[in-house]
Amino acid sequence: MNLKLSTELFCEPDCIKKHIPDIIALGNKALIVTGKHSSKVNGSLYDVESVLKNNNINYRIFDQVDENPSVENILQAVHINKDFGTDFVIGIGGGSPLDAAKAIALMLANPDCKGDLLYESIKVPYLPVIAIPTTCGTGSEVTPYSILTIHERRTKSSISHKIYPSLALINPDYLSSASPSLIKMTLIDALGHLIESYINTNSTLISRMFCDKGFELWRLNDQISNISNITYHEKENLMMCSALAGMAITHTGTSLPHGMSYQLTYENSIPHGKAVGTFLAAYLSYADKHDKQHILSALGYKSCDLLGDRINNYIGEVSMTSFEIEFAVNSMLENNKKLANCPFTVDEKTMRDIYTRSVVILKNVHK
Ligand code: NAP
Ligand code: FE
Repeated sequence: MNLKLSTELFCEPDCIKKHIPDIIALGNKALIVTGKHSSKVNGSLYDVESVLKNNNINYRIFDQVDENPSVENILQAVHINKDFGTDFVIGIGGGSPLDAAKAIALMLANPDCKGDLLYESIKVPYLPVIAIPTTCGTGSEVTPYSILTIHERRTKSSISHKIYPSLALINPDYLSSASPSLIKMTLIDALGHLIESYINTNSTLISRMFCDKGFELWRLNDQISNISNITYHEKENLMMCSALAGMAITHTGTSLPHGMSYQLTYENSIPHGKAVGTFLAAYLSYADKHDKQHILSALGYKSCDLLGDRINNYIGEVSMTSFEIEFAVNSMLENNKKLANCPFTVDEKTMRDIYTRSVVILKNVHK
């Protein structure tokens, strides 16, 4: 049994303004890492800049983080800012900017290293990271993971280093600018973390405790009556469900649906939550009978099929050609990291079954 959660987390209205001492304690020079638009719209960037200006903290902004950021995107930020003398990095946005902030914090602390460092298994320091989430799915504000797109390998993969944010500042009001579709996609990502953490070879009493509270909140989120007009309390539940799911995968890692999602996102440009959600019901159907029943009853569903229908309702269908499925089956059978986290035996037949039950199969077309 182990427990490592080294992130101090606050979740409340006006969260940034309320934690000025925690922010300024991290140094005199901050690098803000964010996406191109959303943090300017929902007020999160303004709130951070105000605190930094009022407290004489010198800062720069890198606002070019792409969705599913690539290694090149990280190195671009590092190249532009390597002479700034950054003391700490502030990631603002969905999982993409938060993951980018972690990787940038690693590279800036090791200025003599090349980009290969990201995927090298050696222990090196990293700059402190403050994570300010504005979506409700990845839990990246508490996880040590940073998932980057690797074009050479035509997929995404977590970097080799565990970068724990020092501080997670969650203001549920930043969700106000999120579209119903973004909320639904990220809500399903959080469900993926909960299910994949519970059904996982690394699950423990402690990780399952986070899952159980997460399932309880997810069930409440699933009952939100009007997702285009959510109350503060609903936004708080969405954010906390995501953070709890993040705490769960911090212990266990994710399993097959996340592994399967990375290639789907890369090859078919499917958003992360949708790509994960596609495989969840089929993954759960293979779980130990008792665990499966526990999850279904915690979420309020009678069968994996009914849960799958509900997930499809949120994310819509995904189609793949049989050629794409065969390619994906073979590469997943080589993904030892994700296979090791899966508690049931996975052979070619199982893997193919999960794919074919989860997607609409198209006739092969040459792209
Ligand atoms: P995202 O890729 O960060 O953002 C998706 C889109 O939503 C972007 O266009 C973004 O705009 C916009 N957006 C973000 N917050 C918004 C808001 N409050 N209002 C309106 N629009 C908003 O999406 P995500 O699903 O949160 O993150 C996905 C990434 O996280 C993937 O790369 C995935 O692999 C990774 N992930 C990481 C972990 C982990 O533990 N580290 C876990 C799961 C997933 P801007 O670009 O303008 O900001
Ligand atoms: Fe995820």
